[in-house]
Amino acid sequence: MSLIHTNVDELPQIVQELRKSFHSNLTKPLSYRKEQLRNLYRMINENEQAFCDALYKDLHKQKHEAILGELGWVKQEALDAISNLKSWAEPNYVKVNLGYMLNKCHVRKEPIGIVLIIGTWNYPVNLLLMPFIGAIAAGCTAILKPSELSAHIASLISELFPKYLDQNAYRIVSGGVVETTALLKYRFDHIFYTGSGKVGKIIMSAAAEHLTPVTLELGGKSPVIATNDVDIPLLAKRILWGKLMNCGQTCIAPDYMICERSVQDAFIKEAPKIIEQFYGSDPQSGTSDYCRIINKNHFDRLQNLLNQTKGRIAYGGNFDRDDLYISPTIVADVSKDDKLMEDEIFGPIFPIIVVENLDEAIEYVNSKDIPLALYPFSKSDKTIKHILDNTRSGGTVINDCLMHFTVKELPFGGQGPSGIGSYHGKRSFDTFSHERAIMTTPFALENLVKARYPPYNEFNAKL
Ligand code: NAD
Repeated sequence: MSLIHTNVDELPQIVQELRKSFHSNLTKPLSYRKEQLRNLYRMINENEQAFCDALYKDLHKQKHEAILGELGWVKQEALDAISNLKSWAEPNYVKVNLGYMLNKCHVRKEPIGIVLIIGTWNYPVNLLLMPFIGAIAAGCTAILKPSELSAHIASLISELFPKYLDQNAYRIVSGGVVETTALLKYRFDHIFYTGSGKVGKIIMSAAAEHLTPVTLELGGKSPVIATNDVDIPLLAKRILWGKLMNCGQTCIAPDYMICERSVQDAFIKEAPKIIEQFYGSDPQSGTSDYCRIINKNHFDRLQNLLNQTKGRIAYGGNFDRDDLYISPTIVADVSKDDKLMEDEIFGPIFPIIVVENLDEAIEYVNSKDIPLALYPFSKSDKTIKHILDNTRSGGTVINDCLMHFTVKELPFGGQGPSGIGSYHGKRSFDTFSHERAIMTTPFALENLVKARYPPYNEFNAKL
């Protein structure tokens, strides 16, 4: 489908209006923020089927997965923000030492200003609207730029948004690289970007021009380190669920597994049973819950990757370009410098690297960029501690995958090449807030502070 793009000539006016609204304090009252959060909730709730249809058209996402991975989360996050807003926004009075006992010191939570939120296509509702909830809650005005690749969702959001949300405070800019490039010329008070590291660098350099702070939610190769004491059927079930959800197009999907040979061999034996349990004997059939690749570019990228691997295709390897279908695929005995090990796979291809021991696995993981997620599997607490003590990652789930994304009390984000900053729950509110330090000094008792005034020699002489 072709997406209607926002005319870039309208951008100066949009930015100016939102800045004016911000300075008029429109978005600051908590009652206003709550009302807008309720409107966002209603936008999803009253149009649930339309969202599910658009997600199906963009990604072949089934209703259950659409509600579980996208709509349900956004609604829950909005409800949490509504119920906690008062306490999040309260000033923090701080304890000060005796020397400041006449002063009152507190931290005011202030909206950071006008913000730009740039979304991506793999969870196009969740990854655009979850940060937006933080921006509304914090009292910011915002421009949202959905990904042009998930065009059905981008169109639907562009159509519904003005019906539910105050256009004086929040606007959608629709389009792709041209529109994003044009937007990035303006000064924002914060830019929140989700997508690849390559574009992340473009965003960060544009932000640097205005010294604008950024949150970058990026990707990378999230490894599974599986030790040989694990329960193989459980390992296979949990990993294949995380890998194959959304056809591998999940930023925290397990990218590859690194383990000893016995674990690889047992995993490969178990995997076909699990895949059949999940998606039936033919994952391409209309009744299966299996998703599709977003577009032909990504399809071709994945097919080229598989063509270049020197690993052994132990399962799958079927492609149907017209249907954007790539079967669940496991590649065994992949070497550390294989093509599959260069970049994030972002598709349903799962390479396995065999190593001699755990420390070799750790050393390999540490030789790559810090991953967005790390998934160690072991029954031994000592082994898990050893892995945690000797690796780094944005987040970690022990003996499972993906689920840390769902805990709003945990920070979600990467480190370095996998991201800068974090969000979810109260952290989203904090991301879009400025902590303004306030100190109140009484007019009285000036004598107590006279030592600070020059000329210092008079004071020093008395010491
Ligand atoms: P994408 O192509 O949709 O790009 C993301 C956004 O950047 C879009 O809105 C797009 O319009 C804009 N964009 C693209 N090229 C641009 C350019 N040259 N200049 C300015 N803007 C540009 O998405 P993608 O980059 O293919 O996303 C996939 C990546 O995102 C993966 O690496 C994945 O791991 C990562 N990701 C991270 C998270 C997270 O939460 N950390 C979530 C989802 C995806």
